[in-house]
Amino acid sequence: MKEKLAAYAYLYLQRIKLADDNEKYLFLISFIASTYAISMQLFLLFFHLIIGDTILFFIYLCGFLIDLSLFWLVCKRRYPLFGILLSFVVIVETLLSSVCIGTDNFIIVYLFVALLMQIIIPYASIRIRALVVAALWGSMMALVYISNYMVPIKDIGEANTILAFFNIHLAFFGTVIQLTIGNAIWDMIMKFNLEKLEESESEANTDPLTGLLNRRYADTFFNKLRTGQLEQIWCVAMVDIDDFKRLNDTYGHRVGDGVLQFISDFFMSNLRSSDLVFRWGGEEFLILLKDASVALAFRVLDKLRGKLESEMIQTHDRTITVTVTIGVCPLDIQNVDKSIESSDRLMYEGKGLGKNMVVM
Ligand code: GH3
Ligand code: MG
Ligand code: MG
Repeated sequence: MKEKLAAYAYLYLQRIKLADDNEKYLFLISFIASTYAISMQLFLLFFHLIIGDTILFFIYLCGFLIDLSLFWLVCKRRYPLFGILLSFVVIVETLLSSVCIGTDNFIIVYLFVALLMQIIIPYASIRIRALVVAALWGSMMALVYISNYMVPIKDIGEANTILAFFNIHLAFFGTVIQLTIGNAIWDMIMKFNLEKLEESESEANTDPLTGLLNRRYADTFFNKLRTGQLEQIWCVAMVDIDDFKRLNDTYGHRVGDGVLQFISDFFMSNLRSSDLVFRWGGEEFLILLKDASVALAFRVLDKLRGKLESEMIQTHDRTITVTVTIGVCPLDIQNVDKSIESSDRLMYEGKGLGKNMVVM
């Protein structure tokens, strides 16, 4: 349930394309505040309908209808108007309610909820919010006056106790929920951003055709190696497809691409997960074998070379066989470029010696 909700919110956040994280937060928390305000109106409206208090029923009905427009304001991103209207409705209703039925029912709690919203919802400049806070403070003072010097128009008797009970709970849980949801929203936005970042980083680090790591990521990786973040012994191997130009010329580029994808998958699935395979150039791959001596790396690669030679590669309705030539040597972490050059030189030696072999 929670995951479903988060997934939906992710999609929604992506679709609405808001300016930045702060606006995403503002949008969602304003939306929730509107929902809360409307539910509160609805509850009070029914309460007064049940106890037969027509004046307050109509007052809350008006409040309910006005509050419905809050959704629209939030969707139109007219946040200052949304915040001012929300507080204005609360103030007017609270004052009218206390004039009508007195203040014994703790109606004042709604002014505190509105005050809290001024603090946690950054819907407008500090100056505007300070003015609204001042209006809330004035309203609280007015309540003191009303409760001490004015006789309520109507005495709702025992219903006051029930109303007080509901008012306190609505305000209390409303506040708790608003704060909890506010934090949850912020966490969600941060997680959303992190996932987007990871996704775009992994996209930037991989080759689109083969899904292998690219040279860009190799730089990052070798930097990690140099700064001693990864202390292992590595071997480096340069793999080049034999007569690939002829394959392209004979069968076309699409078939060539299919063969590149096959070979990438072949190495990825036949090497250990700790080894790394990069697409180094058009039809060249750089392999890093972890914790391997040259002799071991040679044996592993030669076995793979032999296995690849006998693979019947099916691509675009063609069945093709290919071979590769590989040069392998130890990786000197302090001289990565030199090591790669050596593996490349050894690979070319293999080409000269007749291809389809591993040279160390
Ligand atoms: P050798 O055995 O000496 O390596 O010969 P070769 O034909 O493989 O070597 P060469 O460097 O002459 O040719 C490499 C060819 O790889 C040239 C180019 O058409 C092809 N190639 C490079 N990148 C791609 C690619 O992304 N897709 C396809 N289909 N072909 C590519
Ligand atoms: Mg080549
Ligand atoms: Mg080649």
